[in-house]
Amino acid sequence: MIYLDNAATTQMDTIVIDYMHDLMHKHYGNPSSIHAYGRQARVIVEDARTKISSLLNVSPSEIFFTSGGTEGINTIVNGVLCKDEITKVITSPTEHFAMLSSINHYAKLYNVDICMLSVDEEGNIDMNKLDAELQNCDGKALVSLMHANNEIGTLLSMKKVGEICEKYQALFLSDTVQTIGKFNNDFNAGYPHFAIGSAHKFHGPKGVGFIYIKGEQKVDPLFIGSQERNMRAGTENIFAIAAMAMAMEIIYESMPANAIKYNILKSYLIDRIESEVNGVSFNGPKIGLPNLVNIAVPKTQNNEMLLMKFDISGVMISGGSACSSGALKDSHVMEAIGKADKYRAIRLAMSKYTTKADLDIFVDVLKKSI
Ligand code: PLP
Repeated sequence: MIYLDNAATTQMDTIVIDYMHDLMHKHYGNPSSIHAYGRQARVIVEDARTKISSLLNVSPSEIFFTSGGTEGINTIVNGVLCKDEITKVITSPTEHFAMLSSINHYAKLYNVDICMLSVDEEGNIDMNKLDAELQNCDGKALVSLMHANNEIGTLLSMKKVGEICEKYQALFLSDTVQTIGKFNNDFNAGYPHFAIGSAHKFHGPKGVGFIYIKGEQKVDPLFIGSQERNMRAGTENIFAIAAMAMAMEIIYESMPANAIKYNILKSYLIDRIESEVNGVSFNGPKIGLPNLVNIAVPKTQNNEMLLMKFDISGVMISGGSACSSGALKDSHVMEAIGKADKYRAIRLAMSKYTTKADLDIFVDVLKKSI
């Protein structure tokens, strides 16, 4: 079996599994208890927070643990909108469904306007339109734009968006779930105000993540209670939190080597597809997420069950969208970039474990399936 769906989730690092296993054997204290076992558990949690914050060049007090990306997004969107300060949310139709659903839900709940910026064929927003929307905004805005698109790999200049937001004193939330461990994000640069991480995207366990909340920002919690300095109630999952920090340290150490590897493998894959597979093109920009390639296959009756054909051949990829009965449903991102009517999307996302041989098999199956 060949796994090329690493934007959906990644295989856990064996060393991280062993570490988590070991912790489970040795520690079962509740970090909120004041006795010795509790204090040991507290050290594990705080050590993880220190590691993660130092990788992101922020203060440990700016990191809060969650159950993953979706909870992080819900926490920030709810926690910012509920305060009655924000009159408009500015976002884009290519955001992850977790973000779009949260914005729709909480904006309705708190009576906040939503402005959807349009995107071009590669999924880029127009910075001048963002500027104009902020200029026309009556009150204060929350701008929510993802750092990298999980389907077509489009990258956002957080610097440019951050500067525009600063000009109008807007708050800037960036969904950084796909870029933690791929780029050396430095959140201390002044932007964004809020960012999101999810461990299972960088070889850590599922069901654990973090939010970054810039020092001076105040966000109301989603779960009410005392843990995580009143920001996220519930006994901390100390094993998953510690494993996430370890996975993040490992991915940061291997980031330069991974970048070289992705560059070589991505060029190899694109060359092979361009020279050997007729009629297909690519979705998203040439320079995007380094591990991701999204192929546009012209729709025919013959390729309706494209994903299923890959699956039967033992190659796991995705259409970048929900999949029912093996048929590809049109993705909201393909719709937003105006390509859903004519093309099916095949998203291939590599990890540090992907080999050239995996890509060769992928190309062979692609040739047979379209
Ligand atoms: N945001 C993006 C860009 C994602 O790719 C994902 C996961 O697919 C999420 C948010 C949700 O993260 P989680 O699976 O940890 O809830």
